[in-house]
Amino acid sequence: MTKKELARQSAAALEALYPDAACSLDYENEPWKLLILARLSAQCTDARVNIVAKPLFARFPTLASVAAGPLEDIEEIVKPCGLYKTKAKNIYDTAGILMRDFDGQVPRDMDNLLSLPGVGRKIANLMLGDVFGQPRIVTDTHCIRICGRLGFYPEQEKNPEKIEKILSKWVDGPVQSDFCHRIVQFGRDVCTARSPKCDECTLRGFCKHANRQD
Ligand code: SF4
Repeated sequence: MTKKELARQSAAALEALYPDAACSLDYENEPWKLLILARLSAQCTDARVNIVAKPLFARFPTLASVAAGPLEDIEEIVKPCGLYKTKAKNIYDTAGILMRDFDGQVPRDMDNLLSLPGVGRKIANLMLGDVFGQPRIVTDTHCIRICGRLGFYPEQEKNPEKIEKILSKWVDGPVQSDFCHRIVQFGRDVCTARSPKCDECTLRGFCKHANRQD
């Protein structure tokens, strides 16, 4: 099977499993909120981030209010997400930069997004794909693991940038964002890190990992 065909079949099977390919972070269609929640989600579950989002946005309902601080209040609220000092500082500084240099808007291009504190390619691609509708691959841990198992690249490959390049080539542009959201859900439900449920998996027929085990 060609990589292109593998991408098509995987995307179709994932769509059948998860027709709604929504982002699991509750950002209420406000780009600045997604930027903040994505920063909080590093080494933390989306479920916990969504719990923290409620008091955070109740206390700081606008980007300007986040920029106004105080930082200590942000720290206190985001504590349950872990690494809270760094995350709070990144959020506070980012809000200040957006207010000062970007008219209070989230930038629509990779370079400016990457210039923000705590924003790497993963967050930048999430923003560009979800908010601005660009074809983007978000190489989170589920995506890296599962696409290796499926056979897009060797399973031992873990370099996010390399993987982003590979998947961008094979997964059709318009479905890239949805593909990534679905694969996160699939990684939680079926193709888990420790014990993938290959016996009940609808991708089994064309999955390299499963067919090696046979
Ligand atoms: S067959 Fe197994 S390894 Fe392959 S995608 Fe499904 S659960 Fe993952």
